Amino acid sequence: MIVNHILSLKGRDVVTIAPDCTLSEAAKILSERRIGALLVRDGGHPVSGIVSERDIVRAVADRGAQALDEPVSRFMTSKVVTCTGETSINNLMELMTQQKFRHVPVVEGSSLVGIISIGDVVKVRVEEIEAEAQAIREYIATA
Ligand code: AMP
Repeated sequence: MIVNHILSLKGRDVVTIAPDCTLSEAAKILSERRIGALLVRDGGHPVSGIVSERDIVRAVADRGAQALDEPVSRFMTSKVVTCTGETSINNLMELMTQQKFRHVPVVEGSSLVGIISIGDVVKVRVEEIEAEAQAIREYIATA
């Protein structure tokens, strides 16, 4: 299974934020949209950074509540690891496990075309395993 399969099920909507928005604005969007990370976009670049709920927790733990008034660009991760629509789900799971992050933006050429979270990966893997188990049960019942 590849990333394009997940995108065709969940859609290609990506919630983004500008680098000069505050961490407080980022937290509000994460809460309203019920998501765990925002892609930071600046001008023409498909991805300038990523800010996740963990970055916000770390910022507040390190600098106190005043961090919430500071710009997202100060706390985002700038070196973002991306994948393409052709990346396999197995490779994506390996990447998320090794690098210890739960979000991977999907980039094709110079366009941001989606984002995959660890929740999306777990969902399709569980469905896949359930379908395999059902097929085995049916095979055994008719053997
Ligand atoms: P997450 O597990 O996605 O909440 O993110 C954990 C940490 O990794 C945070 O510091 C994020 O900014 C960073 N991060 C999340 N996704 C990526 C990614 N695709 N590439 C690089 N860093 C990331």
